[in-house]
Amino acid sequence: MLNLVLFGPPGAGKGTQSAKLIERCQLVHLSTGDIFRANIKGGTELGVLAKSYIDQGKLVPDEVTIAMLASEVNKHAEPNGFIFDGFPRTSAQAAALDELLASKNTAITLMLALEVEEEELRKRLLLRGKDSGRADDQDPAIIQNRIDVYNAETMPVKDYYSAQNKYKGINGIGEIDDIFEALCQEIDKV
Ligand code: ADP
Repeated sequence: MLNLVLFGPPGAGKGTQSAKLIERCQLVHLSTGDIFRANIKGGTELGVLAKSYIDQGKLVPDEVTIAMLASEVNKHAEPNGFIFDGFPRTSAQAAALDELLASKNTAITLMLALEVEEEELRKRLLLRGKDSGRADDQDPAIIQNRIDVYNAETMPVKDYYSAQNKYKGINGIGEIDDIFEALCQEIDKV
């Protein structure tokens, strides 16, 4: 199995590149942000809970997020592999993911991290907010909170995978197709 973690700050381009990668590699795409938004739209109990955090630019609690992710993984009997997009976002989530995959006799192959500086992120998110309808992309204070949470809670996940020699940083600024090419080159080395 090819199991990829696509990592990077909010607005780095994870969703865009995931869409291209799943097509190329026939992987199951699991975006925790997308799953939360689908639950919010559907008015589920999970959606109501998630919304209260997402609207403030905070992370949804680990317990809730890990349980949701595990149930999504378990829906797929014999996948070629997964692309995890927006997960893990904390060290606890990373450890839980390792445990879950180990129980299925598999593991994370590679973490591909899109690197984009903060000023560019702020610009991209505000631009996306104009037509995405995402409330968390429309308010500069919420955007800043997400970036701060990323720096404080999510950055350590990079060290988690570096320690396993699985971390690859990719420049996330430039043409979408060039960034995609750089990601593919790393995957082809595996
Ligand atoms: P972005 O990467 O642009 O911030 P996402 O769609 O990945 O967007 O996530 C949107 C929001 O959903 C996050 O700000 C957070 O509140 C919540 N969320 C997504 N993934 C996780 C996660 N793994 N753990 C906790 N909260 C999450």
